[in-house]
Amino acid sequence: MDVRNCRECGRLFNYTSGGSPICPACAKKLEEKFAVVKQYIYDHPGVGIQEVSEENDVSINMIKKWVREERLTFAEGSAVGIECECCGKTILSGRYCEECKKKVANQLGSAYGSATHAAPAQKKKTDGNPKMRFLNN
Ligand SMILES: [Zn+2]
Ligand SMILES: [Zn+2]
Repeated sequence: MDVRNCRECGRLFNYTSGGSPICPACAKKLEEKFAVVKQYIYDHPGVGIQEVSEENDVSINMIKKWVREERLTFAEGSAVGIECECCGKTILSGRYCEECKKKVANQLGSAYGSATHAAPAQKKKTDGNPKMRFLNN
């Protein structure tokens, strides 16, 4: 059995591989905290991450982590959310702003496009031989 020190409270607990690095008691506390924070943001539309952190005694990093996991979403028009990982623009949920999401999607799209480009180039080779092209079709 793998026994580790909880990252939060330092107590020993049975660690399951791939599991949380904190003990079940702290994990439970964190879940309760999450519920409180979620409710707080719901009750205070437009609240900033700094205020949420101070009012609920939760670290900003923890809140950002929840937001990146898309478990938390700041209301539309909030003063502060988190930064887009790509351009640093303030976003309300997830990892990228709308523009960067599109950019990423386009990049994926063009990679796919160039892969399909290889097909017509290959076809060209058989152009000189209509019979061959017919067979290929
Ligand atoms: Zn703990
Ligand atoms: Zn961005």
